[in-house]
Parts: sequence; C-alpha cells; structure tokens
Amino acid sequence: ISSKQPNIGTTIFTVMSQLAAETGALNLSQGFPNYNCSPKLIELVNHYMKMGMNQYAPMAGIMPIREILAQKTFDLYGMTYNPNDEITIVSGCTEALYVTMTAILHKDDEVIVFEPAYDSYVPAIELNGGKAVYVTLSSENDFAINWQEVQSKITNKTKAILLTTPHNPTGKCLTQSDVDSLAALVKNTNIFVISDEVYEHIIFDGRKHISPAMHADLKERTFVCGSFGKTFHTTGWKLGYCLAPKELSAEFRKAHQWITFSCPTPFQYAFADFLKEPDNYLSVTQFYQEKRDKFIHWLRGSRFTLTPAEGSFFQMVSYKNITDEPDYDLAVRWTKEIGVASIPISVFYADKIDNKILRFCFAKDDEMLEKAAERLCKL
Ligand code: PMP
Ligand code: GLN
Repeated sequence: ISSKQPNIGTTIFTVMSQLAAETGALNLSQGFPNYNCSPKLIELVNHYMKMGMNQYAPMAGIMPIREILAQKTFDLYGMTYNPNDEITIVSGCTEALYVTMTAILHKDDEVIVFEPAYDSYVPAIELNGGKAVYVTLSSENDFAINWQEVQSKITNKTKAILLTTPHNPTGKCLTQSDVDSLAALVKNTNIFVISDEVYEHIIFDGRKHISPAMHADLKERTFVCGSFGKTFHTTGWKLGYCLAPKELSAEFRKAHQWITFSCPTPFQYAFADFLKEPDNYLSVTQFYQEKRDKFIHWLRGSRFTLTPAEGSFFQMVSYKNITDEPDYDLAVRWTKEIGVASIPISVFYADKIDNKILRFCFAKDDEMLEKAAERLCKL
C-alpha cells in the first residue's frame, strides 16, 4: 500500500525486547518490571471480575477511581480536579498523550518537544497533523532546560509545550525554577502545557515531584498525563489518566470516546480500592531508590561513567571510555555478545545524535541487576 506513515518505523522497545528474547539476553531495555504486582491488587481484580464488573465502564472511567485520584492529587500536590468533568481514565499514558494531541492540534500546529524525547511523542503529534519543534537537551549541560532557547522556538503556530518529569530517558526532574520560567514564558499566550508524569512516584534523594499544574498560572492550560503501570508494576494493564480543567477535559473526552471509548472495568475498581491506602503508592519511591543505588553500586567497578538518575527507573551510562562504536550498533552487539539488552539514546533524537550513552532499566529483580552489572563490569 502507499504508506500514510512512511517515516514511522517499529518502536525501539519492541525491537530490543524481541532481540533480548531471541538471544536469551538479560532484558534491561524496555521499561517494565520483571516482578509481579501486589497480590492484593490481583485479588481485587479477581474479586471484581467475580462480582460481575465485566461490562463497559463509563466513558470517562468509573466514579470511585476518579474520586480517589482527585483526593490523592489534592493531598499530594494541592491541586483540585473535579472527578465529574476534569479527570478521565484512559488506556495508559500513551493514550492520554495521543488523545491530547487529537483534541488540541489543528493542521500544522507546532508542539515544542524536548529531546531526547520518549518515542511516542512525535508520532502522536504528526499523526494528528502537527509538527514537532525540538529543543535539544545536551549531556554536556547535564540535560538542563535552557528557557531562553525555548522562548526562541515559540512562533504564532505554537500550540503546546510537552514536558516529562521525571524524564525518560535522562531521569531529570523539573525544578521550581523550571516551572516558574515556563509560567513566565506562556503568560499572555494560548499555549497549552502537556505534562507526562508517569514516573511521579519514582523520584530519588528526597526530591519532591513538581507538576507544572501546581503553578496557579499554569493549571488552567495544563493536561497532566499519568499512568498506573509504573507505580503499581502493572504496565500490561494499560491504565492511565488525564487531569485537565473542565473545558480542556471536555475536548479530551470528545476524542477519547472515539479512540477507545472506555477502559477495562475490573482493573478500575481494583485500583479505586488500592489507591485508598497511600502507602501502596508512596512505598514505590523507597523501593526504586534502593534499586537505583544497588545498580549504581554494582557498576562501580566498570569503565562506564554516569550521573545518578534523579527519577524514573532508568539509568543512563556513558561508554565513551570503552569504545566509540555507534550506540545503536553497540546496544545490538552487546545484547548478542554479552547478553545484556539496553536502549541506545540516539533513537530519542530527531537527528539521531549519538552521545555514546545507553539506557538501562533497573525495574528488575536484584539477581538480574547484579548479573547484568557483573557482565558490564567485564567490558
Ligand atoms: N510516557 C513515558 C515517559 C513513558 O516512559 C511511558 C512508558 N511506559 C509512557 C509514557 C507510556 O505509558 P503507558 O504504558 O501508561 O501507556
Ligand atoms: N516506557 C517504556 C520504556 O521507556 C516502554 C513502553 C513501551 O514499550 N511502549 O521503555
């Protein structure tokens, strides 16, 4: 057929996970845990399935999960969202991002994207008729955002600025000063903010998650896109949400109703109960802090260099001291030859900038992490 999407290939996560499976490599590439979620959560899903909660959920999600999300968001961040018309349950953050683009983009509208960028962002923009305008974050500058550069990219076509905090793959987190700069930048404009916060609870060294929507001047223009997958070790359940003011949520729901309509009912009831106990999500912070620390500790004897991730369950490492091979080729070769799969960072840049950095996912049991580090230390 004549492809409508000639520039879109297969996501790196599928490519590397498939290669890891074929070669039997330890899979530290795609971001998913290799351990199970809480047995309590599984029991709850079972319970609600047996209770007969197996038909379509309401289009925006069942009310109890929207209510508990509203409560949690207020308790943690002081942000108020009305469960009736400002919270929508969707099929993972991937859908939240896609639907947001469908809802707001007119043909040729521009979205400012920070690269390295999570790989669904640009296709979601382009499939909806928009254009990505890049702000390139550099390893030399510790991937910090230069807000003057962002300012210089704004045109009369700019429809939104898309942020990720904690960031995948760099692990960087937005600071209050970033959020203040963003607020100053969009003041007196109609620019939307889209904030991908799937790793909100996976944040280290005592940092506090800061959402742009916590800023009084930004909340009215922000779509917060979240996911239950990372927090609860349930990436395969594909459940997420979008928080946005009434008018924005109304447009969001117009698109959501025709894309998936609604999401699996028993999972929503299970999360609605599970979220009532704050420790069920707050404990994940310490859980991943320990994993990050152990992984870095086990890499100590290696020739890799790294800056500890501030958040997310990814650790980037530079292999400059080992080889100058292109990162993509190296990720493939090491998967085959040393049996450790990773993600090459160049795939997250439009121009495939190669900083000689690989991303390792440490959402893996200690045995796998130690074994992988042992192999990496031999390089
Ligand atoms: N955004 C980021 C930054 C991610 O890392 C991921 C991957 N899990 C997603 C969005 C997609 O989330 P979900 O699986 O809930 O669709
Ligand atoms: N977010 C995961 C990662 O960054 C992958 C999710 C996916 O495969 N779509 O590895």
